[in-house]
Amino acid sequence: MSEREVLEVDVLFVGGGAASLSGALRLQQLVDAHNARVEAGEDGERLEPMIAILEKGSEIGAHSLSGAVLDPCALAELVPDFAERDCPIEAPVSDEAVYFLTQRRALRLPLIPPDLRNHGNYVISLAQFNRWLGGLAEAAGVNVFPGFAAVEILEEDGRVVGVRTGDKGVDRSGQRKPNFEPGIDVRARVTIFGDGPRGYLSKQLIARHGLQDGRPKQVFETGVKEVIELPEPRVAPGEVIHTTGWPFPNDSVGGTWIYGLRDNHVSIGLAVPLDYHDPFLNPQHLLQRFKTHPLVRPLLDGGKVVHYGAKVISAGGYDAIPRPCVDGALIVGEAASLVNMARLKGIHLAMRSGMLAAQTVFDALRRDDFSTQTLSAYETALREGPVGRELRRTRHFHRAISKGFPRAFFHLGIQQLTGGRDVLRVTDPPEDRDTLSRVAEYYGVDRDEPSPPPTDGTLFLDKLADVYLSGTMHNEDQPCHLKVLDTTKCYDTCVAEWRYPCNRFCPAQVYEMVREEDGGALRLQVNFANCVHCQTCDIKCPMDNIRWTPPEGGDGPNYTMG
Ligand code: SF4
Repeated sequence: MSEREVLEVDVLFVGGGAASLSGALRLQQLVDAHNARVEAGEDGERLEPMIAILEKGSEIGAHSLSGAVLDPCALAELVPDFAERDCPIEAPVSDEAVYFLTQRRALRLPLIPPDLRNHGNYVISLAQFNRWLGGLAEAAGVNVFPGFAAVEILEEDGRVVGVRTGDKGVDRSGQRKPNFEPGIDVRARVTIFGDGPRGYLSKQLIARHGLQDGRPKQVFETGVKEVIELPEPRVAPGEVIHTTGWPFPNDSVGGTWIYGLRDNHVSIGLAVPLDYHDPFLNPQHLLQRFKTHPLVRPLLDGGKVVHYGAKVISAGGYDAIPRPCVDGALIVGEAASLVNMARLKGIHLAMRSGMLAAQTVFDALRRDDFSTQTLSAYETALREGPVGRELRRTRHFHRAISKGFPRAFFHLGIQQLTGGRDVLRVTDPPEDRDTLSRVAEYYGVDRDEPSPPPTDGTLFLDKLADVYLSGTMHNEDQPCHLKVLDTTKCYDTCVAEWRYPCNRFCPAQVYEMVREEDGGALRLQVNFANCVHCQTCDIKCPMDNIRWTPPEGGDGPNYTMG
């Protein structure tokens, strides 16, 4: 019987994204500055906190994915000399355009809407940016532990005291293998949850402590992204194109992007609000269709997809921010719904939230008090500072786009003119899963799903070919990390009414409904090794029948240009 190891740290960040990395680095900076004052005789006692980050990916950045255009406001505060420290910037934004698309036409907007103006921002790969930030944090003295999935919150008397990491070396039937290693209890004086949108543990913390009570539900979008290598320069590094309209259905206002990278590469992708209604909607297929548009196809001709990824994005904004503190714990970044979807940006907000959390934790360390009362200074700073001001201005964005075309434009126009106000009746959004229509209801008849878009193995790919380019790896001899709670619901209800939409909303071909070999019963096959950890199934299953849980630490995608 193996003993469970216990690791004691002072400050624990769960999840190695931009929020946690910025928080850990800022906290170390604050501690170093404090100790320098102590050395100079200007302050009391030295602080020597052990600061640690747990990351479920095989390395920092392996699970980081975004478009991405970075607003450098937080970076400039955290690392003022970032340009001299080899920050992996693809290019400053050089040129920008916004289009409304119909199937054949592209209408260029004469003016860029203020929220989509990107002058002064940088095109980056978040995966590369976070690897760089992780290196800075480590060099500053932060302990970074990649390959450890946090699977359980440790609480004592209602106070968070750390997390437990997942066991390793368990076979598919749940039995211990010879290389079995029990998970570690990482105990901390304060734990900061930065485990991303729909974070596995932050979701539990929010539910257990009622942190969303009295606030609108969190809502999400699913983003899918490819990086394409072009045969010649067609999109300049730093060129930024955004579109809306086709190929999204009229009742779902999604957005697309094309960002010029270095060395004749482009980042291309789209984000679909998960309150869509069409049971046949398929985000990966939408991306393949988008590439056929007369505006887009000439840019990409002869190109080759070299990288792929998918991830949900927190889309509820200001109103959906949960109470982000309890005794012994804080929530930062996208786990706290800190994304400005009107700007298609969240990295700078995640970074700022991490830095604000760091200031609160630093003050708590000095007082040796990690109670909700002390930690609530973080919520005040978050809501009353630049993060809250920015998000408050766009607080009705999701409500506007949930109206579909063309009403969304009317509401977004009012919001632009009035600094965020609207004439909308303010109602709470439904759960994303509750908006999915049944096939007969949406189409007026019971029908089969449309044929998939054509593929060529190079520029137009099916899901499996795309997943291969995400670098996703899972040890297949482990318990399936996707829990289908009751498969009879799938066979008895979902197949008939929704035609198993998990097969379509999953961007990685994890769920397949197959017939047993004798041609008899249907069986839901869960190809969990394909999972890119996007979390869509946990959110959009109309029967609330799927739970995403963390597989063995180190498994999952390996984003290099994410
Ligand atoms: Fe995303 Fe779920 Fe598919 Fe995994 S199984 S890729 S979490 S939708």
